[in-house]
Amino acid sequence: MKLSEMNHPCFNAKVRHKFGRVHLPVAPRCNIQCNYCNRKFDCVNESRPGVCSAILSPFQAMAYLEYVFEEKENISVVGIAGPGDPFANPQETMQTLRLVREKYPDIMLCLATNGLGIGPYIDELADLNVGHVTITVNAVDPDIAAKIYAWVRYKKRVRRAKEGVTILMDKQIEAIKKLKAHNITVKVNTILIPGKNEGHIEAVAKRMGELGVDIFNCIPYYQTKESHFADIPEPSKELLSQVRTKAGQYITQMKHCVRCRADAVGCLGDKESERLMTRLNECAQ
Ligand code: SF4
Ligand code: SF4
Repeated sequence: MKLSEMNHPCFNAKVRHKFGRVHLPVAPRCNIQCNYCNRKFDCVNESRPGVCSAILSPFQAMAYLEYVFEEKENISVVGIAGPGDPFANPQETMQTLRLVREKYPDIMLCLATNGLGIGPYIDELADLNVGHVTITVNAVDPDIAAKIYAWVRYKKRVRRAKEGVTILMDKQIEAIKKLKAHNITVKVNTILIPGKNEGHIEAVAKRMGELGVDIFNCIPYYQTKESHFADIPEPSKELLSQVRTKAGQYITQMKHCVRCRADAVGCLGDKESERLMTRLNECAQ
């Protein structure tokens, strides 16, 4: 484990009650449509469904961050995880990261993305010392992926079915290779969706292991109202455990993810601080 990972509550379960993270909600738009997602809610990639309290501009995010550091001394990581995708909002995302790095040279920086748009920014992310990137990869087979994604917007055009998912999967793999070439820690999230990909997750884990991904986070699908998958039941604990055991043959498993909101703050699983939520809303005005 790299020294930086020791203090990251998602990458080291032993410190999850000691160190906290803050997500800055600066990225509202998305460049793909996952069938399990309802855009009225946070990105399921890195968050449980639940409306994000507010969207911040990069400068508003900096003002909010000051409050957060005053209120909570144990924040070790600043991340961007939606509520859409960071690289469907690249200007806001990159400006926020630059501002945070300039003001807090030692803080860990972290991102969660679907991987489609991150490629052109990876060199600068490495320069900014972004240490951790999470990419959500739900399939490595276009037939399975086509059941999970409705469309992918690439180069200003919406692409459906296999054309869209093939571009998405290619970009995800390219991004993982490039991130690893820069020695950035990569986590892959895979949503376990009953009837869609439960028999395929072992293949995803195997491929991710081959690519040098550091940790694999199999997240149970969370039933979201009004999404295309609203009628699909959530997976049982037994199924999740079986799938994780199979995936664990190829890659280290994360098992303590709590599916945070895109504006989560504090230690994993802590109740949101009402005072900070109020500050967040004040900063957004
Ligand atoms: Fe929703 Fe996130 Fe998927 Fe975009 S990447 S559609 S915000 S779950
Ligand atoms: Fe960590 Fe999971 Fe929360 Fe992301 S969603 S910050 S991986 S606990």
